[in-house]
Amino acid sequence: MFGKNTIRAVAFCLVLLAACRQKPAEPARSGPPLDPAAFDGARALREAGDLVALGPRDSATAGAEAAAKHLCERLQAAGVEASIDEFKAQSPLGETVFRNVMGRLPGGGKGRVLLASHYDTKSGIPGFEGANDSASSSGALIELARVMAKSPELPFEVVFVFFDGEECMEHYGVFDGLQGSRYLAKKMLKNGQAADVKAMILMDMIGDRDLTVTLPRNSTPALISMVFDAAREDGTRDKFMLSPLQIGDDHDPFFSAGIPAIDIIDFHFGSAPGRNDYWHTPADSMDKLSAESLGTVGRVVLRMVNKLAAEP
Ligand SMILES: [Zn+2]
Repeated sequence: MFGKNTIRAVAFCLVLLAACRQKPAEPARSGPPLDPAAFDGARALREAGDLVALGPRDSATAGAEAAAKHLCERLQAAGVEASIDEFKAQSPLGETVFRNVMGRLPGGGKGRVLLASHYDTKSGIPGFEGANDSASSSGALIELARVMAKSPELPFEVVFVFFDGEECMEHYGVFDGLQGSRYLAKKMLKNGQAADVKAMILMDMIGDRDLTVTLPRNSTPALISMVFDAAREDGTRDKFMLSPLQIGDDHDPFFSAGIPAIDIIDFHFGSAPGRNDYWHTPADSMDKLSAESLGTVGRVVLRMVNKLAAEP
């Protein structure tokens, strides 16, 4: 039998013991700010399908204007401040109106990261839907915006860009193709924002069920390594390779100006491994895409942003 005092003493010691065993207070947050698993490939696929359902998005048509409005609204619905940047540029049609859709997520420090896709479709191909080129990357970009808007603040601003006029009307040149990216790169070089771009990450044709990302040579080497590291951590390293080719795409006006830039593109979009025969044909339809492929690229991009956030 124990007396009341004994019980009190034992209880007091137990309280002390518990107090001693308490772990030191942990820092408020540890680990990367973004959870790669939060990226939902099925949602990205639905966004891509919704964009395709609007009809062709050829630049300088009502379809492109409707697509720009739709994407702007989807960014806003994702919780990101968004607007349409309308500009005029010379094209084979003469002076032509193009529209980039821009989203912005403020950050807690200096500099910015650009995440980009184009949204226009290639003109002059009867029956062309542009599911992989360019709805896949546009759907993924909306899903990235949704995930990032809900995540802790990053140490830099994130700019989401949907480029118009990526596809050429006739032949790539100073008045044709890459209209939106050439316009934005020039604008950022002029207003000083280009100087502290940590990375411009472009996605293009990333929805192919048989995903083989072929990183073009005209990408910044440190970002190529970062893609491979992120893919290794994701367990999907086998889906990513370095292409022997340079690819003319929306990252190039940035890369050529010395801004760190990379193009995450699958240029093996076809009926057999290594082939690209679905590209710019009516075969580029939603049934060729998978949520899994979109999920793989989405998670890899989130891991890359985490790596950029961890850099001093
Ligand atoms: Zn294309």
